[in-house]
Amino acid sequence: MTEFVQVKNFINGKFTDCVGLLDSFNPATGEVWAKIPDSGQYEVDAAVNAAAQAFPGWSQTPQAKRSAILQKVADILESRLDEFAVAESRDQGKPVSLAKRMDIPRAVHNMRFFATSCLNHQEKANYMDIPGALNYTTRLPVGVAGLISPWNLPMYLLTFKLGPALASGNTVVCKPSEMTSVTAWMFCEVLSEAGVPPGVVNMVFGTGPKAGDALVRHPSVPLISFTGGTATAGVIRAATATQCKKLSLELGGKNAGIIFEDADLEKCIPTTIRSSFVNQGEVCLCTSRVFVQRSIYDRFLEKFIAEARAIKVGDPSAPDTWMGALVSKEHAAKVTGYIQRAAEGGATVQCGHGIDTGIDGSNAINPKGYFVRPTIITDVKDDDAIMQEEVFGPVVCVVPFDNEEEVVRRANGVQYGLCAAVWTSDASRLHRVARKLEAGTVWANCWLVRDLHMPFGGCKSSGVGREGAVDSIEFYTEVKTVCVQI
Ligand code: NAD
Repeated sequence: MTEFVQVKNFINGKFTDCVGLLDSFNPATGEVWAKIPDSGQYEVDAAVNAAAQAFPGWSQTPQAKRSAILQKVADILESRLDEFAVAESRDQGKPVSLAKRMDIPRAVHNMRFFATSCLNHQEKANYMDIPGALNYTTRLPVGVAGLISPWNLPMYLLTFKLGPALASGNTVVCKPSEMTSVTAWMFCEVLSEAGVPPGVVNMVFGTGPKAGDALVRHPSVPLISFTGGTATAGVIRAATATQCKKLSLELGGKNAGIIFEDADLEKCIPTTIRSSFVNQGEVCLCTSRVFVQRSIYDRFLEKFIAEARAIKVGDPSAPDTWMGALVSKEHAAKVTGYIQRAAEGGATVQCGHGIDTGIDGSNAINPKGYFVRPTIITDVKDDDAIMQEEVFGPVVCVVPFDNEEEVVRRANGVQYGLCAAVWTSDASRLHRVARKLEAGTVWANCWLVRDLHMPFGGCKSSGVGREGAVDSIEFYTEVKTVCVQI
């Protein structure tokens, strides 16, 4: 009989059973490897009650003590890095090597960064001393925070919410993605061992429409931090419209890479390969439209295709695998559907799916896994679906452009505004273009170089709000004005 990992909810410091269970698949084999709770209103109510009970104690715990506990969380997680990396890979499909060098170290860094940055955060309180009255402002935690995270970077994104929410004195109910729940469940053990008191962190596992919906609607949850799709954010906004909750929404993207003729291609091409295909292209910040100045278009394309073809796709546990499997069968079908429709519409698929190996375009070690090879598409129009909609897979379109004004207009011509990458050796042009791009983050001659001090978030349909050192503390607290008559 197959042994499954049995994920349980974590409520008030205890692992608790749930009547209904869901299957969770290993994307590299297509087999069920974990069973997770199919939680609903009952479990969410229990978790919110536990968090509400724990709030007075945790919010009044001295900042230094909260910080010490959270730093211990980081230390224990770091000591179990290998084990978490293997589980993250098995749940999500990413290479173990990537989880070891990116996901889990970043989760450790998130916890450590927010545990220490809150100690150094000096609030600029407003202060008004007028005859007869003294006014000042103070910041206080909001209460029970609902933290909803997606499947692409499970621990990385969960801890980006958990770290600042806890450091600011809130208690939380987390709802990780139903597709990648295992590492969040393992993390509960780490939290307990580090001394996080019962009820301060509660994890409820299950689907979005059931467990997630119960959490966002809960009247005792005044704050929701959500990372996920733009369409889901619309459902959450509608569900909470009458309740005036604090909402932070980190959503999808259709990110442009803009490569001018004076770019350093030696650096630009490998970075654009990484920005297009790392984590199977399942990073909200991945580049999906590459605009290349016409004079270097052919040279760029030839080298770009050669490097994409050289990517090793396959068994996520093999040390030399660079790209693993997509998260689910449905998601792989969505991604390949986009490629197929683009080809039917006249686009040229230069490499990858359907071209390089086998009729389905995969060279998977295990044919039951959800593998899609790095795919480069050309001869597309700006208003084609593949140039407008978020594919969220290892697919990138490359198109030529002639001048700066044109490329800025075309790069901005989508509903999204998460990030962009600009490649040029002309410093003035770089700043000029960065100012004009409608994006929360613009990387210049690099990609995904992140400093957690900086605000992170999207414009347009890519989100509302910013998170980062100061921005997160502001989001996870309420500012209060106190007026004392003297
Ligand atoms: P999703 O919107 O389907 O799900 C995200 C989370 O929301 C999951 O935990 C899901 O269970 C939950 N959910 C779904 N319906 C819900 C509802 N009605 N009420 C409450 N919760 C609900 O997104 P996904 O497919 O898991 O993730 C991929 C998306 O996330 C992509 O669009 C990607 O760009 C985006 N993303 C954005 C960022 C960012 O920082 N901007 C980072 C990573 C991923």
